Amino acid sequence: MTPMSRQGDNHPNWKGGRYIDSAGYVQVRIGVNRYRREHRVVAEKMIGRPLAPGECVHHLNGCKTDNRPENLEVLGTGAHTLLHWQEGGKEAFQQPDRPNATCHPDRPHHAKGQCKNCYLAAAQKAYRARHPERAKASDKAQKEKNYSKHQERKRERYAELRAAGMSAAEARGLA
Ligand SMILES: [Zn+2]
Ligand SMILES: [Zn+2]
Repeated sequence: MTPMSRQGDNHPNWKGGRYIDSAGYVQVRIGVNRYRREHRVVAEKMIGRPLAPGECVHHLNGCKTDNRPENLEVLGTGAHTLLHWQEGGKEAFQQPDRPNATCHPDRPHHAKGQCKNCYLAAAQKAYRARHPERAKASDKAQKEKNYSKHQERKRERYAELRAAGMSAAEARGLA
């Protein structure tokens, strides 16, 4: 039996539904379409509270899928980074352990606790709120661009109909 499946069997909230994410961590299902990294769930049970934003969970033996409590240690981001630098330089720290996004726990964290979609949407919204006149101007420019594209297509259609032998009046009506 592998350490992973042993952990799974012992896990009090075990319901099935897990996979290894692109960074090599075990994701466990915590609800409909909701996943969390298993080592973070286990670590929170160990310390009896949710992890703070600056806290990372380190795998002592280096195996990212070995989520037995005795293999996990909660460290501050700085201490964790330093440890990996000491162990093997920058390359060993390619995939820092970051929590999933809080807005969509099944998506990777991008910034400010959010996934990339939500973060960019919020950033755009904030930009529009800060610069309403710029937002209005860019909306107007987009509208004009769409309109001129529409006119261009109309001209092309008109030319095609004329080339096919249609009268100018008829082509204008259909273009
Ligand atoms: Zn680590
Ligand atoms: Zn999101």
